[in-house]
Amino acid sequence: MDAEEDALYREIILENWRHPANRGVVANPDFDVERDNPLCGDHIRLTGKIGGGRLANIAFTGEGCAVSIASASLLTEAIKGREITDIAKLSEQEAIDLLGIQPTPARTKCALLVYAALVDALRQHRERI
Ligand code: ZN
Repeated sequence: MDAEEDALYREIILENWRHPANRGVVANPDFDVERDNPLCGDHIRLTGKIGGGRLANIAFTGEGCAVSIASASLLTEAIKGREITDIAKLSEQEAIDLLGIQPTPARTKCALLVYAALVDALRQHRERI
């Protein structure tokens, strides 16, 4: 990756951190999960609605570093409206790839915090049906 491309992806992360998509709490959610990354102090809560086998709505709240918040913004945007069976197949690497750059090992935990919350969310949903 050249320097120009690297700068572009950094800009995408900063932009999603400043103006995150899907920020908030979904009312009467089908899942409501929270995850912490104590190494960095990141905290994320994910709420969402599932209907007709699709993720009808999803939102997050929380505090954290730019990477954790940008990841939550990008991941929720990427999966909103998609079929649950598709979302369940999403790998850790695919979640990281949304950022466009491979984070350092320490930052990988930040990038995957929302992914870990999503795995919990799908499990919670399965247990409820
Ligand atoms: Zn972090």
